[in-house]
Amino acid sequence: MTLLRNIALLAALALASCRGGDADGNAAASSQAQSAIAPILTTPDAVDTASFARPLEARVHHVALDLAVDFNAKRVGGTATLDIGRKPGAQQIILDDKGLEIASITDGGGEPLPWKVGAADEKLGAPLAVGLRPDTKRLVIKYKSAPDAGALQWLTPEQTAGKTRPYLFSQGQAIENRSWIPTQDSPGIRQTWEATVRVPAGLTAVMSAPKSREPITQGGESVFSYRMPHSVAPYMIAIAVGDLRFRELGPRTGVWTEPAMLDRAAGELADTEKMMAAAEQLYGPYRWGRYDLLVLPPAFPYGGMENPTLTFLTPTFIAGDKSLVGLVAHELAHSWSGNLVTNATWADSWLNEGFTTYFENRIMEAIYGPRRAAQEAALSFDDMTDALKEDGQGAPITRLNLSKEEAVPDGGATGIIYDKGAAFLRTLERLAGRQRWDAYLRSYFDRHAFQPMTSALFLSDLRNNLVKGDKALESKLQLDRWVYQPGLPSNVARPDPAAFAAIDSAVVAFARGGPVPSAFSRWTTAEKLRFLNSLPRELAAERLNALNGTLRLNEAGNQEVLFAWLSLAVENRYEAAVQPLERFLTAQGRGKFVRPLIQALAKDVQWGRPIASRIYARTRPLYHPLVTRDLDELKLAAPAP
Ligand SMILES: [Zn+2]
Repeated sequence: MTLLRNIALLAALALASCRGGDADGNAAASSQAQSAIAPILTTPDAVDTASFARPLEARVHHVALDLAVDFNAKRVGGTATLDIGRKPGAQQIILDDKGLEIASITDGGGEPLPWKVGAADEKLGAPLAVGLRPDTKRLVIKYKSAPDAGALQWLTPEQTAGKTRPYLFSQGQAIENRSWIPTQDSPGIRQTWEATVRVPAGLTAVMSAPKSREPITQGGESVFSYRMPHSVAPYMIAIAVGDLRFRELGPRTGVWTEPAMLDRAAGELADTEKMMAAAEQLYGPYRWGRYDLLVLPPAFPYGGMENPTLTFLTPTFIAGDKSLVGLVAHELAHSWSGNLVTNATWADSWLNEGFTTYFENRIMEAIYGPRRAAQEAALSFDDMTDALKEDGQGAPITRLNLSKEEAVPDGGATGIIYDKGAAFLRTLERLAGRQRWDAYLRSYFDRHAFQPMTSALFLSDLRNNLVKGDKALESKLQLDRWVYQPGLPSNVARPDPAAFAAIDSAVVAFARGGPVPSAFSRWTTAEKLRFLNSLPRELAAERLNALNGTLRLNEAGNQEVLFAWLSLAVENRYEAAVQPLERFLTAQGRGKFVRPLIQALAKDVQWGRPIASRIYARTRPLYHPLVTRDLDELKLAAPAP
């Protein structure tokens, strides 16, 4: 018996084959109940406005892809076979479609089914309505993705490390997978899936699921097969194809990347198996089998993407000294918060990201000690404070549960969704006590494994299983204030003031005209970032010269440090940093770095904008559509010849 049933928040479709294994919150049962249909939430707060699906009428529960990858045409194409459940009498099923070229739709017996693509929305794509006969349980869709499919990035050989073979990778979150998979693309509609993928011989296809057959190569192509036995949010289906090699990191962990990157990547990731052990110690078993990482070419737009069993990672985390592996801890933590328990709608993405930012820090503490963890938590607190300052304490965008206007895919601010979310959980930990909190959080993942989650459901679960009627604790926690109100509640757990005491003194000394701190090279990355980000935003050229001359910031190998420095340099129109800036913007396409730098340049009409135009004209083809979509809005004209 579970809380969910008690409070009657959860309803699965009335399907004969639904055994309810997942809803019982029994981990062992749910991993075995592979054919069980994952429940969906049906409360008003769980309605996904970013999907056309109407899952209460008919829903997809299994996707089987049989696709060929065509690098010349920049398309994937073949068939998607969807197993569906439906309400008795349902006459159609609505899927999400973004630019798919559909050739035919038949039922499982090959009989054509009527279908129609509705009016398209620029962001959401279009509804694909398929008519159902009374006995239709399966749809077979023959289709191709469009060459400009938002989820797929096609790299030329020149854009890879090896420079000889092309490369493809997908990015499904938030609502991009509908551009290459015709299904119900909503995080609350969990689906199992399998795929057979044909690629040119010599290339390797990896996906976010266990391998189901050994690859075979014949007739100029290689065929790979994967199968995800757990129901997952459809945005978690991911693929990459390229000249890939694998190296084991531990019994359950390994890294995939291009041959030229393998040594560096494996070295940086050497602690992965230890991180898994630490994560399991904290919040329970890792339920996905293997945990591998794919280190992508530099064009990857994100830091990482937590695709189940195969995290996708930017190569910019490689610093040579494991100083940026917080990113790995973050993506690993998503195997619990995000992948196991998933935001039902994008209004609650803090349930994925805030939980994960908190969990990441607990893994870092377990592996690298409390000092590094406290510093990284303090940086996260700073990011939250910056977001609150920028938007104003009363702004609706500073709510964790996003207001209607912000509750769009990729809506909200990271300083809120990630950092205020993490600050909330840190506050809960501090007020409830670590032991009690940890026991609660572990049980939360058990109770809701492989299920969608909303803010309301989380708060109700917390009240039932942590607060348990303790009125004093309830009033101390300010739960609704945290989740539904803007700004920062008064009970927030503040970071350890000692975390950066020495650094903050160095900032004050430098700001008063004092020397560049000689200890900088021995500082942790968090300390370096704190220093650079805390310096006065206006600095004279000779002060910037002093920093750059002593600390060699223009040549910083740590990409986070380099980014912090270049941001400061751009704000001060520091000419000596323009060349390194151009190198940095050409060498990688991570949105977190590229977006703010180009946006800051573009804002400075006289000095920065011409630089931004010149650089972007050259780098745009290297960037992912998710990044160019935002940067194109700056309307950077090509510079005059
Ligand atoms: Zn994340």
